[in-house]
Amino acid sequence: MGPACIAQISDPDSKEQFRQMIHNEVDEWVDELLCVFDEDRQPTLMEMSELFTRTKQKFLGDCLQRMIEEKYADLLEQEYASCPKCAKRCKKRFDSPKEMVTMQGAVGVIRPWFFCTDCSIGFSPFDDAIEVSRKKHQFDIQKKAVNLSADVTFSRGSEIFEDLTGQSISDHFIHETFEAVGSEAHLEDVIPTEEEIAKRIKQASTNKWRPILVVASDGAHLPTRPKAGRSDKRGKGQWQEAKGFRIYLLSKSRIIHVASWHQIQNEADFGKDLALAASRIRQDSVRIALLGDGADWLWKHMRTCFPKGREILDYYHCAEHIYKVAKVQYGDRPIKGLQWVEGTISRLFFSEVDNVITGLRRMKPNNDDAKEEIRKLIVYLKNNRGKTHYRGDRAGGYPIGSGGIESANKFICHTRMKRSGAWWVKETGNEMLRIHCAIYNGTYDKVFNTYKRAHVHHY
Ligand SMILES: [Zn+2]
Repeated sequence: MGPACIAQISDPDSKEQFRQMIHNEVDEWVDELLCVFDEDRQPTLMEMSELFTRTKQKFLGDCLQRMIEEKYADLLEQEYASCPKCAKRCKKRFDSPKEMVTMQGAVGVIRPWFFCTDCSIGFSPFDDAIEVSRKKHQFDIQKKAVNLSADVTFSRGSEIFEDLTGQSISDHFIHETFEAVGSEAHLEDVIPTEEEIAKRIKQASTNKWRPILVVASDGAHLPTRPKAGRSDKRGKGQWQEAKGFRIYLLSKSRIIHVASWHQIQNEADFGKDLALAASRIRQDSVRIALLGDGADWLWKHMRTCFPKGREILDYYHCAEHIYKVAKVQYGDRPIKGLQWVEGTISRLFFSEVDNVITGLRRMKPNNDDAKEEIRKLIVYLKNNRGKTHYRGDRAGGYPIGSGGIESANKFICHTRMKRSGAWWVKETGNEMLRIHCAIYNGTYDKVFNTYKRAHVHHY
């Protein structure tokens, strides 16, 4: 809370009372700090800093408690309250203690508890007013803990959190909160709003050109396992495809991220999700580049969502296929293989895909593997021949591969998801992906607020 909130205490007496109480708390804190002067040796800077860390939680927690007691005195002493459902006037049933741990320390209040016999619900107007979480550790802690565990394991998160804040939270608490926030992280919140996207497009625009908006789709295989029942042995794992897209803007000096979204899901759902993102982009304000490898499902949906997009076969994926042929065909003659790769790639670069295909047809395979790889490459290039105009792409300022942004993909899918030995239950894996994307898209605040709204009213 900022000073503005304190100023709203209307009664000058209660302000003065608050000031006096804080002074008393300071005195108590100083008493604890004074122990330094009783020691016969000089403490180091680090030791003194740690003394503050140890003692400030009690001091700040007590200050917070005083503030709540002053600011919400009327709700804490309330004898009658209206039922939130039917508005019937209800008398207080009993006083109910609530312990709350915040980033500042622990707070304990005793608030009146009400019960509406008509609706059969118990309620506390105080809890609603200050947005109390049902958990002991309050929303401020929950928000930071979930954010942290998007990057480190739950048990590591619990250690780091305690080390940095002095607040002890269990890995079980982080895991549970993570799943609760993740299940409230919907695409609608994770993708930035139309206004926000328009703002980013404006940032990337110059007077002369509409900026290039890149839509890159891909699939990444993630290790998953079935949800294990209580008596079941943990099920055997299986690799499933997370399908997703990244949308970003090319400005003169940098890449401006717009939106990322990845989920373990089927292609129809991928298509629906991409359509929602597309609906938030004013497509006339940008030139659109569609990037992907050879997979049909992603082209089908990108084309539908961005009909004016320029289709570009991801150059790096394409090169990988060419290297594969070289390896089996020229395995024993690496220099020759390299020359062939370079020749083929440069012909592709100059849009001579038909010449490349003719060359492949004339090639004499050195073995069965080579025969098969050559056949596959011909099919691949034929299917994607309209998307290999790299020279023109470069001239128009379009990207020819998503190499630069691959790191974003790694950030989203790989770092946390492919940790060795981690096999994800599909639902948990998708929650992890959604929270990751929200953090990366700059929409985590919004996602967390949705979660908070869903968990603040207890009746
Ligand atoms: Zn009622």
